[in-house]
Amino acid sequence: MYADIKVSSSGARTLGSIEGRLTMLRLVCEKCGRSGQLRVDKLIEQHGCDYMLPRLKDDLVRDCPRMVRKDFADWCGAHMPDLVTLK
Ligand SMILES: [Zn+2]
Repeated sequence: MYADIKVSSSGARTLGSIEGRLTMLRLVCEKCGRSGQLRVDKLIEQHGCDYMLPRLKDDLVRDCPRMVRKDFADWCGAHMPDLVTLK
């Protein structure tokens, strides 16, 4: 089932691909000075294993000040630092 999922350098993964490897998933936005962490098992409960992480990030940053005022010139820099170390 996971065989045809391409893992790109931008970290396009699914929740299922980090299940059991991460307990908490951190989301950091240095530009907005925000950070938070979410339990991976809860996320899978809510969204399912096939939910894409980039989509999850989009959901989570929706209330970021930069996203709210649609500041395209200085876009929100939210990222998930744990995915970088998870090769
Ligand atoms: Zn932000």
